[in-house]
Amino acid sequence: MATCIFCKIIKGEIPSFKLFESDKTLAFLDIQPLSQGHALVIPKTHGEKLADIPDDYLTEILPVAKKLAIATGANEYNILQNNGRGAHQEVPHVHFHMIPKPNVHEGLGISWPAQ
Ligand code: C5P
Repeated sequence: MATCIFCKIIKGEIPSFKLFESDKTLAFLDIQPLSQGHALVIPKTHGEKLADIPDDYLTEILPVAKKLAIATGANEYNILQNNGRGAHQEVPHVHFHMIPKPNVHEGLGISWPAQ
């Protein structure tokens, strides 16, 4: 969809920090992270709500989110999908958040947000 910000990210018209890409899935860092490693995993087809996305564009989403969490070192995290404006969805292109819990890096001596 021409005006969709995530479709523009998919097409490379808007920059993003990409973490994973396949023919049906894209993952990138959230521009306003709630914690270090906060990532978004999106289908590479436009649809506002989950019901608008064909199943074959959804099958990779959870495995990718899991792998990103592992790569981030997060063993505690939230997977979140806000489905619809009333559910606090701001960007009208289906996306799944992978939000590591803030203190997962304490063991490395790194805290987030920075103190
Ligand atoms: O689930 P919801 O629609 O509220 O979240 C949208 C998310 O998309 C926000 O966390 C926001 O920071 C992120 N975003 C982004 N890059 C953009 C626009 C929005 O990472 N260019």
